[in-house]
Amino acid sequence: MTNEPRRPGRHFLQIPGPTPVPERILASMSRQILDHRGLEFQQLGRRVLSGIKTIFKTQGHVIIYPSSGTGAWEAGLTNTLSPGDKVLMCETGQFAVLWAAMATKLGLKPDVIPTDWRIGADANLIERKLRADKSHEIKAVCVVHNETSTGCLTRLDEIRKAMDAAHHPALLMTDTISGLACADLRHDEWGIDVTVAGSQKGMMLPPGLSFTAISAKALEASKTAGLRRSYFSWDDMLANNSNGFFPYTPATGLLYGLAESIDMINEEGLENVFARHERLAEATRRAVKAWGLDTQCRDGKYYSPAVTTVLMPEGHNADAFRKIVLDNFNMSLGTGLNRIAGKAFRIGHLGDTNELTILGALTGVEMGFELAGVPHKKGGVAAAMSYIAETAGPAKAAAA
Ligand code: PLP
Repeated sequence: MTNEPRRPGRHFLQIPGPTPVPERILASMSRQILDHRGLEFQQLGRRVLSGIKTIFKTQGHVIIYPSSGTGAWEAGLTNTLSPGDKVLMCETGQFAVLWAAMATKLGLKPDVIPTDWRIGADANLIERKLRADKSHEIKAVCVVHNETSTGCLTRLDEIRKAMDAAHHPALLMTDTISGLACADLRHDEWGIDVTVAGSQKGMMLPPGLSFTAISAKALEASKTAGLRRSYFSWDDMLANNSNGFFPYTPATGLLYGLAESIDMINEEGLENVFARHERLAEATRRAVKAWGLDTQCRDGKYYSPAVTTVLMPEGHNADAFRKIVLDNFNMSLGTGLNRIAGKAFRIGHLGDTNELTILGALTGVEMGFELAGVPHKKGGVAAAMSYIAETAGPAKAAAA
C-alpha cells in the first residue's frame, strides 16, 4: 500500500526493456515449484533448450543462465578468451561502452572503434582493422546488434562478410539482448560464434534469464581459453543440458514462462514478429518526423525495429519531459544514457506491442510535449495513424 492515489488502467511501460509480460506468460509461470531433478522438469528442460534454438536460427547449443544479459556477456568472454587477448569492439553506444569496460576488467585488451553514437558498427572499418592485424592478435570481434541506448542496429551479415573478406580467424560475438525476437538474427547462417540475449525484451518475459548461442568454433575455443570461470563455465552446463537438466537449481518459474513465450512467437511466426516490429518502428519514426524532431539514429540503414531514441530540442531536458509524461499519463519512457542523458528519451516498441499500444504511447508523447512546452509540430500521432492504417494487412485483404 502506498499513499499515492490509485491510477486506473494499465501502466504504459514503453521503455526498451524490460517489457510488459503477456497474460498468457504470467499465467504459465504461476505454478507450483517442481523437482528440478525429476522427469517432469526434464521434459520442460528439453522443450525450452530445443525451442530456443529456433529463435536464434541455430542448430547448435543455446545456454540458458539464471542471470541478466550481463552474465551472458561475462560467460561469452571468459569461456572463449585468455588473459591479455585483444578484442575488437565498436562503441555504438552505452551498452558497447559497458561491454568494453567488462572486457578490460576481465584482463582483455579491447581495441575500440569509436562512432558518434548515431549509427551501427561500420563493417568497412572492422575489415580495415582486421586486414591490418597480420599476426592475428585480435581474437574476437564484439558488436552490439541492437544498441538499446541509441536505437541503432548493426548489420551483422555485413560484419561477417567483412571478417571473411579479411580472412581473419577471430571469433564473432554479438549482443542481441534487445534484438532477439525483434530483429532478424541468423546465428548459424551469419557465422556468429557467440550470441547473447536476455529474457526481458523481445522474449516478453520478466528479467532473470540470459541466453547464449554458441558455434562449434566457440566451443572449440572454450577448451583452451585461459580466463577463469566456474559458475559460468559452459562445459558443466552443456553436459547437464544434454539430458534436459541443469548443473544447479534452474529458475523453474521463468522456464515455464519461456516455454510459453517460444510457443507464442511460433504461433505468430518469427518472420511476422520481425515485420510487426519494423512496422511499429516505422510508425514511430513517422511521428517523430512529423513533430519536426530528430532521431538519434541518423542513417536509415541502421534504424532499430525495437527502440527509437528521440532527440529533444535544444534547451529542453528529456528527463523533465519524461516526468511530465509519467505524472500525467502513467507512461514510462526510456531515459537517455551517458552522453545523451537529458538530451534524448527512448520509445520502446518491442515485445508484446501492437498498433494501439504504440499509438497510445505516441499520443502520450505528443500531449507531453504540449504540457512541457516542448516546441514541436502537431500531427505526429496522425502521421503514425495514417501509416498504420495504410499498412493494415487483414483489413486490406478483407476489402479486396
Ligand atoms: N546490452 C544491451 C544491448 C542491453 O540493452 C542491455 C540492457 O538493457 C544490456 C546489454 C545489459 O543487460 P542486463 O541489464 O540484462 O544485464
